[in-house]
Amino acid sequence: MKEVSTTLLVLGGGPGGYVAALRAAQLGVPTVLIEAQALGGTCLNIGCIPSKALIHVAERFEQARAFAGDSPLGIRAAAPTLDLAQTVRWKDGIVRRLTGGVGALLRKAGVRVVHGRGQIVDGKTVDVTPSGDGEEPLRLRCEHLLLATGSEPIELPGMPFGGRVISSTEALSPSSLPRRLVVVGAGYIGLELGIAYRKLGAEVALVEATERVLPTYDEELTRPVLATLKRLGMVLHLGCSVQGLSGDGSAVRVRTPTADEFALPADQVLVAAGRRPRTGGFGLESLMLDMAGRAVKIDDQCRTSMRQVWAIGDLTGEPMLAHRAMAQGEMVAELIAGHKRRWMPAAIPAVCFTDPEVVVAGMTPAGAEQAGIDAISAAFPFAANGRALTLESSEGFVRVVARRDDHLVLGWQAVGKGVSELAAAFSQSLEMAARLEDVAGSIHAHPTLGEAVQEAALRALGRALHV
Ligand SMILES: Cc1cc2nc3c(=O)[nH]c(=O)nc-3n(C[C@H](O)[C@H](O)[C@H](O)COP(=O)(O)OP(=O)(O)OC[C@H]3O[C@@H](n4cnc5c(N)ncnc54)[C@H](O)[C@@H]3O)c2cc1C
Repeated sequence: MKEVSTTLLVLGGGPGGYVAALRAAQLGVPTVLIEAQALGGTCLNIGCIPSKALIHVAERFEQARAFAGDSPLGIRAAAPTLDLAQTVRWKDGIVRRLTGGVGALLRKAGVRVVHGRGQIVDGKTVDVTPSGDGEEPLRLRCEHLLLATGSEPIELPGMPFGGRVISSTEALSPSSLPRRLVVVGAGYIGLELGIAYRKLGAEVALVEATERVLPTYDEELTRPVLATLKRLGMVLHLGCSVQGLSGDGSAVRVRTPTADEFALPADQVLVAAGRRPRTGGFGLESLMLDMAGRAVKIDDQCRTSMRQVWAIGDLTGEPMLAHRAMAQGEMVAELIAGHKRRWMPAAIPAVCFTDPEVVVAGMTPAGAEQAGIDAISAAFPFAANGRALTLESSEGFVRVVARRDDHLVLGWQAVGKGVSELAAAFSQSLEMAARLEDVAGSIHAHPTLGEAVQEAALRALGRALHV
């Protein structure tokens, strides 16, 4: 078998792995990256990017339908139709452009990319069966092994993926729209895709085991999302659990909180009940690493329990977010290059691209209370923001949480149209240890949604101007 030696060997070319490889190569560390499927991983191919593309199409389609009715904007148009095959082609074009860009960046930086499935032999050796026809197996030896194999969707017991039962991957490349879609799980993936399918024309029912949609977010934040689900006519079955498919497979058996069972007709069932670290099938167990539940256990430098074996991204557990994986990858590359680094972000923002969007960064009022911090919080409603009104989006608010004694900003939450873009301001203020006075005293451009950020800080200081 042909052998290749390198300093850093990265297993997995998702956002964690490819960023690590890119940064390491920039710093002069000889680097090889192994990817079994497509560069960009879940995020670019079957996650963040394709889901946002589909959501965009669904929003545009819903808007066009509104123009065919009695639009308050005065726009009158004929009823739109949807060419789903073209929608998927457009989405695939964006994915191709981005994954191609990652390949070009890696090439330019001097990273050797090996396309194939890696099989761990030991902490310094990985065998690869290349994906290309006729290519010979390779044995790769390294000083540092970085594990970045990501995550996979969780199947429900008795309802394996296949046929009518699909995961987010299949939902992102539909060949036709189901008439009736049942979504299992009202976390962000289930809601984002469920709302998109509803806007594209499917009847959508959601089954969620807890009593709330987006159960990890506070209720005030999720209320506007709940209102949209109702407006769109989506049916919610909260506190209910899915028992399996009916005998002929045409319905989902649902158990209610009172232990009654009923059949929910479904042409397709999207199971979005969570993801788990991808730890099986590539020899990981042979390293006998310490685990944290199903995830690989890491310290504050992403080191595993084996010397010079590192792990990042979804493989290391929650929060399973692309930007966390990238930041970890960058840090590990710099550590290997000899820099001094430690994992201590002030906050990792999280966004739900629902309608309306939800964004959180840092502490909530309840989180501050639990931590025993004497905090103040204040919200500014978009109903009082001029830009929001011109965008037909008066629902939602921006909320700030800060220490009462020195006004250090501890957290931000927002719900409303387009608030995902406020995540940058939120993260920066937290990372730079801003005080309420810093945010309140910065001139924010008018008219923008960002003025609500300044106004929330002003309100927390007891001197809001526009509410
Ligand atoms: C529908 C959906 C929407 C999402 N939306 C968002 C969002 O809006 N924002 C956000 O931050 N996150 C989002 N995520 C989560 C995000 O995609 C992940 O957090 C991110 O991709 C994790 O990056 P990673 O590098 O850890 O792993 P991955 O992206 O999963 O990449 C791992 C890579 O490793 C490869 N691999 C695995 N085993 C081997 C092996 N043995 N040999 C070779 N290669 C291997 C895989 O093929 C894969 O390409 C979404 C996920 C889904 C499913």
